[in-house]
Amino acid sequence: MTLANLQRDMEGCSRCSSCKWVPFNQVKGLRFAKNCPSITRYNFHAYSGSGKMLMGLSMVHGRSELNEAVAEIIYKCQLCGACDAACKVFRDDIDLTEVLLELRAQCVEQGESMIEHMAMMDGLKKDDNTLGEPKEKRGEWAEGLAVQDVNTQSAEVIFHAGCRYSYDPDLRDVVRGAVKLMLEAGVDVGIAGKAESCCGGKAYELGYRGEADNYADDMISRVKNCGAKTLVTPCADGYAAFRYLYPKMGKELPCEVMHISQYLEKLIFEERLAFEQEVPLVVTYHDPCHLGRMSEPYTGNWEGDKLLRPARLKRQGRHGIYDAPRKIISSIPGVKLVEMERIREYAWCCGAGGGVLEADPDFAGWTAQERVREALATGADALVTTCPWCVSVFKEAVDELGADLAVYELTELALESAKTPQIGLSIGGNRHDR
Ligand code: SF4
Ligand code: SF4
Repeated sequence: MTLANLQRDMEGCSRCSSCKWVPFNQVKGLRFAKNCPSITRYNFHAYSGSGKMLMGLSMVHGRSELNEAVAEIIYKCQLCGACDAACKVFRDDIDLTEVLLELRAQCVEQGESMIEHMAMMDGLKKDDNTLGEPKEKRGEWAEGLAVQDVNTQSAEVIFHAGCRYSYDPDLRDVVRGAVKLMLEAGVDVGIAGKAESCCGGKAYELGYRGEADNYADDMISRVKNCGAKTLVTPCADGYAAFRYLYPKMGKELPCEVMHISQYLEKLIFEERLAFEQEVPLVVTYHDPCHLGRMSEPYTGNWEGDKLLRPARLKRQGRHGIYDAPRKIISSIPGVKLVEMERIREYAWCCGAGGGVLEADPDFAGWTAQERVREALATGADALVTTCPWCVSVFKEAVDELGADLAVYELTELALESAKTPQIGLSIGGNRHDR
């Protein structure tokens, strides 16, 4: 796949600007009707999904060149997929996300990637993680847990912590707690510890295809060697890489892939996990882009006229993971879920994705604050999500706004309500009076 292969998609853009808005039949009010952080923040057409396609088309036609200014706009985008999901409501023959990914590959090919991303890639090559942390510390989060070492032992389930959960001290209780819940349910869990590497998804999204390929091969051989039947990850980015990017790269993991929210839901269904403690909390749930629309499985490269493509092969964002986290929330006694205006495949992004957090933290923070304002408008006590990047940018946004809103990782709520509360959240400390 190259940018030129997507010429018909780019030529097909009717400049209707629907990619800038939540589809009209889903709009509940003007304040939260926009869907694209990039065009909303920078307010110039080039920043929208359509604008980026027009730049790509101009390059394919040879009318303009990729330069620093163009690359800057290409990377002012969280790769959240909201533009694609909205465009598909009207134009299901255009694959906008594919164009955005190819533009980034072109930037790397032509030496126009962001300096911050180059630094991240240097760190990735050195220590196999996107945070620049030492490789040998990667497994420290799991110290003392009775898990198998998949480097030397087999395991039924391989747990891939992902870069952020492996290193972020604020998320250590969450990732340990997720594994504890699985172990207490009798699951045979293994981890790779310090041998675990990045999934490569971030490298692919930034345009570094060769590196992404290597990490995918590494992941696949690790799963093959330990014979795991299921891979479970708490990382939304990793989940999207396994379900969408790997097959797109022509790579297939030899096992079922589940996000931790799906796995916990399965344990509840099998009556191996029960929530018994009351958690008196009104929460609203944020759909992480990479667990939602961006994790919709890859459906292949349709080479003919996309107007003739069967509906089941169109990625419209509907087949992401939306129900499992909501079912877990609803299973917890005392918790009440109130929804924000932009949800499921039309959710507003947290701001951290697509390399924006690294290259433009101010834009990432602005995007997160917008979501926090939407969460506050529901009157909820807490904003719950299930992606490590979302959690950390939301916590910062709440601090910056001075907002009275708690931010929880979904697993924290599960741990709080599990038979034996595991980590003791200060539930109620951030609640509004009502
Ligand atoms: S919604 Fe689709 S067709 Fe309309 S302007 Fe956006 S990209 Fe173009
Ligand atoms: S992927 Fe998200 S941020 Fe990027 S252009 Fe589309 S809607 Fe905007």
